[in-house]
Amino acid sequence: MNNSALAELLFPHINKEPGYYEELYPQRELPPGARVTRLGPSPTGFIHLGNLYGAFADERLAHQSGGTFYLRIEDTDEKREVPGAVDAIISSLSYFGVYFDEGVNSQGETGIYGPYYQRRREYIYQCFAKHLVEKGMAYPCFCTEDDLQSLRERQEKEGENPGYYGDFALCRDLTIDQVQQNLSIGKSFVLRFRSSGDPARTFQIDDGIRGILSLPENYHDVVLLKQNGFPTYHFAHVIDDHLMRTTHVIRGEEWLSSLPIHVALFEAMGWPLPVYCHTTVLMKMDGENKRKLSKRKDPELSLDYYRSLGYHPKAVREYLLTILNSNYEEWRLANPAD
Ligand code: GLU
Repeated sequence: MNNSALAELLFPHINKEPGYYEELYPQRELPPGARVTRLGPSPTGFIHLGNLYGAFADERLAHQSGGTFYLRIEDTDEKREVPGAVDAIISSLSYFGVYFDEGVNSQGETGIYGPYYQRRREYIYQCFAKHLVEKGMAYPCFCTEDDLQSLRERQEKEGENPGYYGDFALCRDLTIDQVQQNLSIGKSFVLRFRSSGDPARTFQIDDGIRGILSLPENYHDVVLLKQNGFPTYHFAHVIDDHLMRTTHVIRGEEWLSSLPIHVALFEAMGWPLPVYCHTTVLMKMDGENKRKLSKRKDPELSLDYYRSLGYHPKAVREYLLTILNSNYEEWRLANPAD
């Protein structure tokens, strides 16, 4: 397979090279040890206590180290978008004393690492996707929902792990003529990563909160670009956090299971990893049992709850910082006025 020809066939409209963006978004000039963090909410209209908890961690890490904290809006899923959600995010966070140095704001965007709305970065993702195709590390997949469904059934019957990988990855070895033919009859495709991972192998990573973790390698040919040309979370995260020069990725533990994918993608791009910090999920006692706070059952998950009941924003902040940092109470006793 001629990878360059395939890349050209799939992305004829992309004429920039990755090096162009590396130069456009230079390393940040910050004091040594400064941390660059970001909040990447999706504009789904619901900003909750867990988001605020993460935002405090981001904000404190950046500002205590002389670094930068920016807001990126992760709006690639149009179906889930709610009008007015971005303003609601900005105003809720500022009510609780969380301000950004860079990125999306109520007037638009500031900073030289933008656009900070993912939907406006489509051409950037596609440039790097094209580059992976050129290197033979990504390929188009024309499988339909029905194809994927029969694949799942077959795997279930054979007692194999579900997913698109190895010999089950039906489009892995299409010839350029087959790709051309599919395109000419108007078939749409997703772009998949050609994984070289092995489920039997593990790797280690030092999580900023959890310490050394031993995780299995990713072996799935995960989707990088969806049929509409927009990236999946995995691909957007890797491209954006690299080009925006994020040093610390603070996010909820629900992302831990996809960390092997992210590590494999950073490696494929030849980029250094950020420091990952996976925070814990906020839990509550429900009778004898501990459980995750739920949007449906727990009004206290919503930030509006504290606002409407008149809790002082500083009290909410103190409460969350106490949960976030196990010696915060000692620090507060020693620093009553800060
Ligand atoms: N858009 C993702 C979310 O809302 C962001 C996760 C992250 O911080 O990387 O969960």
